Amino acid sequence: MNYAEEANRCRRCGMCHAVCPLYKAERREQFVARGKVRLTKISEEGRIELEDRAKTTLYNCLDCRACMEVCPAGVNVSRLVKGMRKKIYDKHGDNLLMNVALEHLTSYPKRMELARKFLKLYQTTGLSSLVQLVPSLKEKEKILPAIPKRSFRNELKARDVRPGKKGKVAYFISCTTDILYPQVGEAVLEVLEACGYEIYPMNDGTCCGVPQVGYGHVERAKEMALQNMRSVPDDIGYILNDCATCGSALKEYPELFEGTEHEELAQNFAKRVMDISEFLIKHTELPTGEKLGIQVTYHDPCHLNRAQNVKQEPRDIIAHSGSELIEMENSGQCCGGAGTFGITHFDLSQKLLKQKVGNIKATGAEAVVTGCPACRMQIAFGLKSYYKDIPVYHPVELIARSIREKGM
Ligand code: SF4
Ligand code: SF4
Repeated sequence: MNYAEEANRCRRCGMCHAVCPLYKAERREQFVARGKVRLTKISEEGRIELEDRAKTTLYNCLDCRACMEVCPAGVNVSRLVKGMRKKIYDKHGDNLLMNVALEHLTSYPKRMELARKFLKLYQTTGLSSLVQLVPSLKEKEKILPAIPKRSFRNELKARDVRPGKKGKVAYFISCTTDILYPQVGEAVLEVLEACGYEIYPMNDGTCCGVPQVGYGHVERAKEMALQNMRSVPDDIGYILNDCATCGSALKEYPELFEGTEHEELAQNFAKRVMDISEFLIKHTELPTGEKLGIQVTYHDPCHLNRAQNVKQEPRDIIAHSGSELIEMENSGQCCGGAGTFGITHFDLSQKLLKQKVGNIKATGAEAVVTGCPACRMQIAFGLKSYYKDIPVYHPVELIARSIREKGM
């Protein structure tokens, strides 16, 4: 992408101000798309250096894409921001912690498993209570959910593969499903098997590359993307995932490889990628289980409803499980989680989270449903902090439960 040309498309109309959650919270031009586009423009013209102030502006973005939905000029703010972050990383590098995490941890399954075990020990030995004594970490520390005894990959290894009458579908296992929410992976398996599909677990622990792209480590993200793309045989028609952010990243691999020798491979891969809710509603005959009869509300993850245009399918899944959906106000407004934003910009993130929890509370629902593990983690934390500890589910967990309750 030519960043200068893209930035020049901005008409400075200000329509993005009305929808940007950060601008609405802070009323600062640097937080809104127009401010970031202007920064890109003057940086590309060589009028400023991408130093600390520019970095603050570019990292004050949720990649929620609400601005892109209303922008009359069609400016791709997401790509501009990520592109500028890459330039900052290429010029200044990153700190030690981020270098370790992004270059040497998230794409190595054995290291991720070690990290999971460490986090489990951290929570069970009381070390977490000690960390909570540090004022700056007291609240942030509580965002992490209870670490499960086993990762989803370990559960999967202990399980027999059941051949499906309808053939195989590839399943991209996100890091968060693997180490934080294995029950979602279990639900995906149960439901796909009930629909007649055999799972082809892909990516052997390689991350989708979103954290790397988000922090400008694009070359590392490309290596991981190539590993993922090459891990799926050509004769598998669907590449499914249960994480809104991973799904959008996989669908955007062609952008990563634009103008390179791998562009065609990326396009061929991306057109087969589908969110699990989309697949279950559009391409399968979902078995009807027991009616759950619970009242739920649904939070639209930014990377599912705007990045992938998947809005109705999770709602159809909720209805199919015999649950009642009570829509919340502003279901598509970012919860403030946005990857690591909830940690790195804790106070600002909490402002958005409080609004989200207020909207959930107003519905009186007994559970929240969402298709993104990062939103799940953030919302679960918000519910405990500002309302009450009601459960948060992935849509596919409702279907799995209704099937289980009917003994299917
Ligand atoms: S809505 Fe688009 S064109 Fe208008 S100011 Fe924002 S980025 Fe520029
Ligand atoms: S992506 Fe979201 S947070 Fe970033 S500028 Fe656009 S509306 Fe604001």
